Amino acid sequence: MKKYFAKTILLSSGWASDKTITIDDGVITQISSDKSADATILAGAVIPGMVNCHSHAFQRAFAGFSEQGSEGQDSFWTWRKVMYKFLTQLSHEDAQVIAEQLYIEMLKMGYTRVAEFHYLHHDINGNTYLENSSVDNKLATMAEAIFKAAQNAGIGLTMLPVLYQYAGFGQQSPNAGQKRFINSTAQFNQLVSDCYAFTKQYENTNIGIAPHSLRAVDKQAIQASVAHVRSLDSKAPIHIHIAEQQQEVNDCLVHYSKRPVQWLLDNIELDEHWCLIHATHINAQEQQGIVDSKAIAGICPTTEANLGDGIFPATEFFALDGTFAIGSDSHISVNPVEELRWLEYAQRLTKQQRAILSSNETASVGQNLWQKAAIGGAQSTNSNTGEIAIGKQADLLVLDEERTCLFANKNQHILDSVIFASQTNTIKDVMVNGCWVIQGGVHTNEHASKSNFAKLLARLSS
Ligand SMILES: [Zn+2]
Repeated sequence: MKKYFAKTILLSSGWASDKTITIDDGVITQISSDKSADATILAGAVIPGMVNCHSHAFQRAFAGFSEQGSEGQDSFWTWRKVMYKFLTQLSHEDAQVIAEQLYIEMLKMGYTRVAEFHYLHHDINGNTYLENSSVDNKLATMAEAIFKAAQNAGIGLTMLPVLYQYAGFGQQSPNAGQKRFINSTAQFNQLVSDCYAFTKQYENTNIGIAPHSLRAVDKQAIQASVAHVRSLDSKAPIHIHIAEQQQEVNDCLVHYSKRPVQWLLDNIELDEHWCLIHATHINAQEQQGIVDSKAIAGICPTTEANLGDGIFPATEFFALDGTFAIGSDSHISVNPVEELRWLEYAQRLTKQQRAILSSNETASVGQNLWQKAAIGGAQSTNSNTGEIAIGKQADLLVLDEERTCLFANKNQHILDSVIFASQTNTIKDVMVNGCWVIQGGVHTNEHASKSNFAKLLARLSS
């Protein structure tokens, strides 16, 4: 059991002063107003850790590799070609090196849990590791690399193996660039069972699944894979890429005569453990449908900006009291502050207004966004995180007082300043599941990880 004293702390009920929190076996068991003599003092404002609802870890290694224009013709689809080329070179050892470096970067920026939308399943030739690998749990060789990376970094992990079967609507055969992603439903369900076994072995992990998108899976496969994972865990999260690109919406209209979110609402029983990643292109009826289904909108503002996807109608979705989470997706940015800043700024630019994503209860846009994204992120990962409250897992961030003292002298301005006015990372210490993983801005594995990652990047770029 450990006790910590916080002069300033963001509880579920709002900012509070002079609290002692007791943490037992990774869980907050008490929050009291007395200053316990044996409590360690936390030197800065304390806020809940952020959940990253959407990550493809390997994509971090080529962030910045596709920013060179070609006469205005670049789009998501040209970026995807760079990604497919890159995939011809990555081993499972490489995937672990990339993920470990990425997860350390996430922790330093305040993400304490990540949902890994994991679709790189097979070896470089597209063969399953079943035939070719000497490691145990062969089908899940790539997935285990992610579990190991998360454990070494100390970040919480929600593993979402991805079901990917087709190149496009109408069961189009996969192309060569997709050969590492493809599984039959039976093989996929075995992979999910193998990953479920890993959650018993690796601490602070759980699983769900991710049918990749409506273009890559059909209704039957979605239903069969959901039934299997829910037989292992009745609250398993289900994530799906849903309406990232206008072309995707147009193709869905041609094939199903419905927009993607509308088709999903009409054909699949959604619940509060479904997370619709890139619910970007949604009309008013679809917005209401998502809210009625209790599903979460998983938004990745910096990736959506980088890929030219479009703008999520956050103002309208917030007005309906919809639940959202944020993700770093392609990892062009690994920073929850930037995701939330852009979520708000895109609305300001399109509406020509200011301070839009506040609420009746919370006037501070920064505080409202941070708290709602953390709670929505926890829901999207079925994890006991996202809030500082009794009974919640102790995933905490301590802000650097040396920095926050420069721009925030009242509690209600702290997160507005962190999100909108800070030029540098303001996070000093990070606790995950009751353990310090970042102290004074430093992770104990960061030098070794950085060196391994730099060597890998040099090899991949040569
Ligand atoms: Zn994605």
